[in-house]
Amino acid sequence: MCGIFGVTNNKNAAKLAYVGLFTLQHRGQESAGMVADDNGALSHHGDMGLVNKVFTADVLDGLRGRSAIGHIRYSTTGSSHVKNAQPLFFNSCLGQLAVAHNGNLTNAARLRAELQKTGAIFQSTTDSEIIIHLMAKYRGKTLEDTIAKNLPRLEGSYAFLFMAPGKVIAARDPNGIRPLVLGKLGRSYILASETCAIDVVGGNALREIEPGEMVTIEGGRPGFRRFAKAAPYTRCIFEQVYFARPDSVIVGRTVQLARREIGAMLAREMKGIKADIVSGIPDSGTAYALGFAQESGIPYQTVFMRNHYTGRSFIQPDQALREFTARLKLAPIKDVIKGHSILLIDDSLVRGTTSRKIVKSLKRAGAKKVIMAIASPAVISPCYYGIDTPDKGELIANNLSTDKIRRYIGADELYYISLESLTAACGNNSDRRFCAGCFTGIYPTKIGRFGGSGG
Ligand code: SF4
Repeated sequence: MCGIFGVTNNKNAAKLAYVGLFTLQHRGQESAGMVADDNGALSHHGDMGLVNKVFTADVLDGLRGRSAIGHIRYSTTGSSHVKNAQPLFFNSCLGQLAVAHNGNLTNAARLRAELQKTGAIFQSTTDSEIIIHLMAKYRGKTLEDTIAKNLPRLEGSYAFLFMAPGKVIAARDPNGIRPLVLGKLGRSYILASETCAIDVVGGNALREIEPGEMVTIEGGRPGFRRFAKAAPYTRCIFEQVYFARPDSVIVGRTVQLARREIGAMLAREMKGIKADIVSGIPDSGTAYALGFAQESGIPYQTVFMRNHYTGRSFIQPDQALREFTARLKLAPIKDVIKGHSILLIDDSLVRGTTSRKIVKSLKRAGAKKVIMAIASPAVISPCYYGIDTPDKGELIANNLSTDKIRRYIGADELYYISLESLTAACGNNSDRRFCAGCFTGIYPTKIGRFGGSGG
């Protein structure tokens, strides 16, 4: 999972891109980068770390020009290196060119091997670089033709931003798995992974880039074309379940409202359940719990205090400090918990280790009973489209029955929402469908033997 943001035709392009990337920081904390276009001369900066660390005032001043594209990257095992920080930047046979990618190419290993056999030398280990090598090899009349010719060779998920002197080009995979939204701010066009980034810079979201569609913004105007027939729309349902910010709009309503509706659906499925209070694991669990409380009549209470300042760096140093991590991140509010039966909602249950710690923490704080309710179905299969889920063997629901999972995490009862209720709450209909591969093992595209290390 990553975030991308682009802005054109604005004298403060780099600063707006900084604000946009900062707003999307929840989508990735490993590295950040930006490329700016100053009258046809592209400049680049990227580094490891959070947006506000990577872009100092001096760095932003150096990124001159009226257009900028940026990227923030989520850490994936084995690829944590500055050479994978995006946008990737090239002086190529196509001229200066930058690319920022959110997604994962499932045929990356095969394409990379084919390209290497014919002489391509890769500068990173990310699959995002493959598109540039394909473009250098199979060219069309214009840059847009070249992109349109090569995108159909890619399998998997992608939302791309390209920058060449004088233009920004965006494209979304034919299934629309990863998000990409077009917005406007005065005379500037904006492209972003989520609408919240467009809102924060003061713009208005216009519409999503359609599956299989690309847009070129040049001379202050957008030009649209298709590079592939749209396959059935299968956007990632985990955006609503966990990743997207609550103020972002997906399929016509905010993620916050969708999460409340999921909570209400869960309450309908668990009709008759008895508990003193309902609560959620912050942050996403809170909206689910509010929806559940409203539907069921069980009062909502906050049972955990979340510390928002525990960066990833805190948990790295040594074992002694790691011991504190769970309590440091989520501290139980004892008076609210003691002597009560608590219905606790979490967004997902993947390995079970976090739920186990959380249930233990509630019991230690005096909870009489802990009922765990999960706002997504059991995760039984990995994600091949850029979401960092573990291998099948580590997915607890793939190895244990629901009752055994309940015993493992130490809960008194355990429930999952059904896939039907989840997709209905997220706005499923014949035109708006979702990928649910990690819950069903059925994926909307071909899955190669090896996935790439995506952007
Ligand atoms: S497999 Fe799961 S996490 Fe991956 S894109 Fe599909 S719904 Fe999203």
